[in-house]
Amino acid sequence: MPRPILATIHPPALHHNLSRTRAAAPDAKVWAVVKANAYGHGIERVYEGLRGADGFAMLDLAEAERLRALGWRGPLLLLEGVFEPRDLELCSRLGIWHAVHCDEQIDWLAAHKTQVPHRVFLKMNTGMNRLGFTPARYRGAWARLSALPQVDEISHMTHFSDADGPRGIGHQLAVFHATTQDLPGERSISNSAATLRQGSDAQVRCDWVRAGIMLYGSAPDHPQHQASDWALQPAMTLSTRLLATQQLQPGDTVGYGSRFRADAPMLIGVAACGYADGYPRHADTGTPVLVSGVRTRLVGRVSMDMLTVDLTPVVQAGLPVGMGSEVTLWGRASSGAQLSIDEVAQAAGTVGYELMCAVAPRVNVVVAD
Ligand SMILES: *Cc1c(COP(=O)(O)O)cnc(C)c1O
Repeated sequence: MPRPILATIHPPALHHNLSRTRAAAPDAKVWAVVKANAYGHGIERVYEGLRGADGFAMLDLAEAERLRALGWRGPLLLLEGVFEPRDLELCSRLGIWHAVHCDEQIDWLAAHKTQVPHRVFLKMNTGMNRLGFTPARYRGAWARLSALPQVDEISHMTHFSDADGPRGIGHQLAVFHATTQDLPGERSISNSAATLRQGSDAQVRCDWVRAGIMLYGSAPDHPQHQASDWALQPAMTLSTRLLATQQLQPGDTVGYGSRFRADAPMLIGVAACGYADGYPRHADTGTPVLVSGVRTRLVGRVSMDMLTVDLTPVVQAGLPVGMGSEVTLWGRASSGAQLSIDEVAQAAGTVGYELMCAVAPRVNVVVAD
């Protein structure tokens, strides 16, 4: 029998979260962002739940190829564009659209001998300062691309730095609209946070939204909002079982560094999950966890293969607990109780995005029916 740790993917939740995206951006087409192997869920495993999207967006050509292999014939978009000239051949062959964020990518297109003209998403740097042409250079890049026979359609895109926070998107939106207003072509600007928080603002309406984290059921603006506030459902459950219990006496300590000390007699459980499974080592005593569907807390330091949990609330609930008891690290317990990945992430000083993406290769993943 393999170690009992298991990630379970929930296609109905993906499907539901996609409809939430459509409801939040009713006039827009939806790019389902599946970079990083669908935020750690597995492209093949999310495909069924997300195939109602209008297109899939990713970074890696290999991921785009996997979608074509699944039978997807609709739009695919490389969000960072191509990494070297010969990537353009595969884009031609598989009909993959790609972002253009720098002069070199335009040079490569100009030198590319293609039969099928390319569709590109020209990226503007409106303040994020990662990828894209500054507003001053954007129209020049657009003019160059327009003159190329290798390019048949140019869309406009930018990416927000603060869609989830107090600074907001106004400053970037203003620059984007001012620079592109008289140019033809479709527009794509919103990520999950902008879609959920600003979706009703007419300035934000555009042809395509790029939804990532919300499809997987995590709130892009936690802790301001919970996933449940946005009516999102967790697309992944990470669960395991107890391997052992230990009865502690006052003064007993737990785990490496003796980080937790019992001040009264208490029962703890040892769960088969550690940082080598992708659980965050920075999660400290107090991080929420469900045992037999009852909410309790982590105690002591997370080790490579195990973590320890306080069983007091489970005992108090009158539930039998011991070796084999179900432990839910995030997602949905079999009782129906839920624990948001965002709460666990917050306790570990990170975000839901990182935890999803970090689920380790040694964790078995199944798709729930
Ligand atoms: C990852 C990514 C997204 C999706 O962001 P979420 O916050 O997960 O919705 C959108 N656009 C670009 C360019 C991205 O890289």
